[in-house]
Formats: sequence, structure tokens, C-alpha cells
Amino acid sequence: MPDQRPRVFSGMRPTGELHLGHLFGALGNWVRLQEDYDCIYCVVDLHALTTAYEDPENIRLAGREMVADWIAVGIDPSRSIVFRQSDVHEHAELFALLGMVTPLSWLERVPTYKGQIAELGEALETYGFLGYPLLQTADIILYKATQVPVGQDQLPHIELAREVVRRLNHLYGPIFPEPQALLAEFPLVLGPDNRKMSKSYGNAVTLGMPDEEIDRLVMSMITDPQRVRRDIPGRPEVCNVFSWHKLLGAPREEVDEVYRGCTTAELGCVDDKRALAARVRGTIAPIRERRAALLAEPERIDEILEQGAERARAIAAPVLGELKGAMGLAADA
Ligand code: SF4
Repeated sequence: MPDQRPRVFSGMRPTGELHLGHLFGALGNWVRLQEDYDCIYCVVDLHALTTAYEDPENIRLAGREMVADWIAVGIDPSRSIVFRQSDVHEHAELFALLGMVTPLSWLERVPTYKGQIAELGEALETYGFLGYPLLQTADIILYKATQVPVGQDQLPHIELAREVVRRLNHLYGPIFPEPQALLAEFPLVLGPDNRKMSKSYGNAVTLGMPDEEIDRLVMSMITDPQRVRRDIPGRPEVCNVFSWHKLLGAPREEVDEVYRGCTTAELGCVDDKRALAARVRGTIAPIRERRAALLAEPERIDEILEQGAERARAIAAPVLGELKGAMGLAADA
């Protein structure tokens, strides 16, 4: 029996090893979505080229490592389709077709475009970078996905996809459903230095991090800046250590006990950080083991990606064929 559940598409650029910010953000959401949706999760390596075209050698390795992380945290490739974008040529072909019908001004007004050019410089002033929201549109509609999990900042991209779909359906008949944003609010995960957790800031607890490095990072965490001595009561509500206890799923009574101990100065920051480090180690250790086992067998990851690409192509090829036929082009035999 074909699965009648609504279809979700989402992709991640191959950035290599993921971290707690991903786990408690998009990735954790992906794992949960598997319960209620038909999920398609894509290593969007063509997108990686829009910003890393001068440094391509790591893209394949980073993709493999990222897939190991996905599976280690609970993405199940026997339920969800897990594949690499460049293995399914229909993405690039649909991107080219969409380029024929999409007014340039629609892409120029996407807010992230001008923002990122200003931030990252002229190297991004390529046709591919301007067009990447259109490649995202192609990724989604190639599977007639109806839901796309996004954060607030990605909403303009979904709006563009919906506009493009309306134009295509107007020009060539009702082929594509308008994708809907599946808006998710993720907690902002701060690193030990209270900046957003990011590998580029060197403040990320990565999913493969050894225990000693976890200890080092957690023990370096900034706490309540007013608590300059052990006997001064602290303010858990401004302390990232306290946030992490909650983020990592500490039981209610333990959270309450940290709060009480901190605000009465019975609990010192060093002791609290030690307890947090143990909690982080407990979260990371099973993920680290699973990802290491997968990475020890890279051919198994490649096999998962190949099978995923086959399943993806089985959906994508007829959809592309339908559009090509409507556009007066020959569909592949
Ligand atoms: S005791 Fe814990 S919650 Fe309180 S300030 Fe220190 S590290 Fe933060």
C-alpha cells in the first residue's frame, strides 16, 4: 500500500560534523517528523557549491560525515529517504527549467540575498548564489512535497516556492501542490562563550566530541557574571549552564534543585558545571558511538545514499517528465 502521509522535504548543506545546536534545532525536529510524515532528507551538495565552489574537496567527505550524524541521532533511512542532491540529476534539470519562467526580480528581492552579499562579499555574486532559492524550490516541488520544515528566516524562500508553483500551474496546468511552511521554533543554543553555537566560533559541542573535550568546554562556560564569589547567590535565569540543564532534558526535580542551590549559594558553579558535563557526556556518548561505527564503514553510508537516490529518483523522474511534457519538451524514456 502506498504511504498516504503528507510528504516533507528538507535539506542540509554538507558542513561535516554536526553539534548540539543542530541536535536541538532542525535535526531533532527531523527525527520527530518521521512519526507523522513521509520524509525526504537531502544532502544538498549543489547548494554547498554556491558558497564553497573554490574549495570543493571536502564536500563529499563532509556529506558522508553529516549523514552518519543524521543516522546516529535517529534518522531512519529505511523509513525516510536519505540521499545526496547531486546523485539525482533531476534537481539540476528542474532548476534550469524554473530559471526560464522565474522573473529575476523575484530572486533579487529575497531578503537573504542582499544580506549575505553584504556580509560575505563579492565572491557570492554568482548566478548560482542568486538562484539558490530557486534550486530550493526545485528540491521541494520535484517530490510534490506539501510541507517544508523551516525556521522564521526561511519563510521568504517558501513564499518564493509558492509563487513559482502558482506561475507554473498557471502556465502549464495544475502539476504541483503549493508547499506549506512547517514552522518550528527552535531554542537558540549558545556556546560556552554565550555566542550562538557554531563550529566556526570554536564553541560547539560536536556530536562526535570526546569526553575530555566536552569537560573542557563545559568547565569554560560563562556563568552569572555577578556571581564573582562562591558565597554570592546566583541568578540561574541569566546563566547558560542552567539553560543547558533544561535543554538536555534534566528531570524537573533536578532543575529545581539546581535553581534552589544556586539562588541560596549552596551550589557552587564548579560543582554545577561538573554535573552538567556529566549530563552532556551522557547525551553525546551513545551518538558518538553510533556515528563512529558508521564512519568505520563508509561503504555502508554510500550504500544508504545510493539506495536513497534510487528511491528519490523513482519519485522525481515522473514529476519532472510531467512538467517537461507540459513545457513541450521530450520526457526521458
Ligand atoms: S550555580 Fe549553576 S546556574 Fe548558578 S550561576 Fe553557577 S553555573 Fe550558573
